[in-house]
Amino acid sequence: MKVIIIGGGAAGMMAALSAREQGAEVTILERQARVGKKLLATGNGRCNLSNTKLTLKNYHGQDAKFADFALSNFDTEKTLEYFENLGLITTVEPSGKVYPLSDQAGSVVDVLRLALEEAGVEVRTAFEVTGLRKGKKGGFQVSSKEETLQADSVIICCGGMAGAKVGGTQSGYELLKSMGHTMTKLFPVLVQIKTEATYVKALKGVRADGAVLVERNGKILAENAGEIQFTDFGVSGPAIFEISRAISTGKGPITIHLNLLRNMNHEEVVTLLHNRKKTMPNQTLENFLTGILHNRLGRTILRYAGFGFTDPIHTLKSSDIKRIAHAIQDFEIPVIGAMGFDAAQVTAGGIRTEEFNPKTMESYLVPNLYAAGEVLDIDGDCGGYNLQWAWASGYLAGKHAAQQKKSPTPYKKK
Ligand SMILES: Cc1cc2nc3c(=O)[nH]c(=O)nc-3n(C[C@H](O)[C@H](O)[C@H](O)COP(=O)(O)OP(=O)(O)OC[C@H]3O[C@@H](n4cnc5c(N)ncnc54)[C@H](O)[C@@H]3O)c2cc1C
Repeated sequence: MKVIIIGGGAAGMMAALSAREQGAEVTILERQARVGKKLLATGNGRCNLSNTKLTLKNYHGQDAKFADFALSNFDTEKTLEYFENLGLITTVEPSGKVYPLSDQAGSVVDVLRLALEEAGVEVRTAFEVTGLRKGKKGGFQVSSKEETLQADSVIICCGGMAGAKVGGTQSGYELLKSMGHTMTKLFPVLVQIKTEATYVKALKGVRADGAVLVERNGKILAENAGEIQFTDFGVSGPAIFEISRAISTGKGPITIHLNLLRNMNHEEVVTLLHNRKKTMPNQTLENFLTGILHNRLGRTILRYAGFGFTDPIHTLKSSDIKRIAHAIQDFEIPVIGAMGFDAAQVTAGGIRTEEFNPKTMESYLVPNLYAAGEVLDIDGDCGGYNLQWAWASGYLAGKHAAQQKKSPTPYKKK
């Protein structure tokens, strides 16, 4: 049995090891100069490879339930055990996020690369697959511009459009479409948000803890809390990534509201500010929020609330204090839109999962053709869920692609 895997990313490497376990002859074709290039960039170079708090609610797509079988079959526990057997020790943060103990994404790529070598998987880099056809005598012809290879089964693990610099491409969609598959609309998710820059520009590099609310015409589209990072064009950081889906897929004028003292209610913030007025009456407003918020953020909030910096603090009236408290807890920023695929971590949407068997990852349209990972219409939240999907779906596809099948399951459109 000869299995060709197109794409040497997370799903592709896992699929290769799994197919090899079944005794198949396995080749990975990777268009870049090395396998696992995107993996190296994950988790800010630390690779958040899984999450111990995973549930199906962390996944999205037109039919997110499609992911259930693969994720249960190769769950987080099995994944960590699998990696441990490859030599990778992991550590779990209180949030459930799993990282290599070395804190280096390179360790994840290294153990996979070494395992592929040891298992005897052929890895061909700088091999960009440009054509896929059914062979005349069964099987497939997989071609680059230079050569054509034969395979009994093929697994497409080309990933999605996100992160173009580290491998994001349309290629997987095109190859699957050439075999008759169809796809949903694509959106960049887990991505920074471009906002109106008047106040944000001065905050480049500032990090803050806060609650984020996404609103359109008075309707709340999404809410989250955690670390917010300000950039010269808008906002970023874990709390923002999570809500980027609502912005990326939403239409119309959207506003984000930041609560920069999320653990206090309005009255508590007002009291805090009144006390400061009492303790520092002769200092200038410039220092009014010093020690409560990051200095630059404090000054921006004052400007946003309509105050200058030079007046003494004792000149603040009760209504002024209320206005400042309100600005701290409802810093409203009009949204321009989500940044594009180049900046995104993940692609929402993809090849329609209803065209694949969730128990094997085999195409219902073309027997012996498989797909796994981000190329399919499944995406996860920020926190290791996307890599877990890549491992789980890759493992399942590899296992089944390596087995000779009796008769394929016919496709019934829902
Ligand atoms: C900056 C960044 C940080 C991230 N951090 C995390 C994180 O910490 N945790 C997490 O869970 N997820 C994270 N993700 C998402 C995660 O990396 C992806 O969801 C995951 O890598 C998808 O795996 P995949 O195998 O489907 O695709 P990929 O890992 O993208 O691999 C696809 C591979 O296929 C190759 N390829 C494409 N087309 C062809 C072709 N025609 N011929 C040959 N080769 C081809 C590509 O070069 C690539 O190497 C991050 C993503 C980015 C961009």
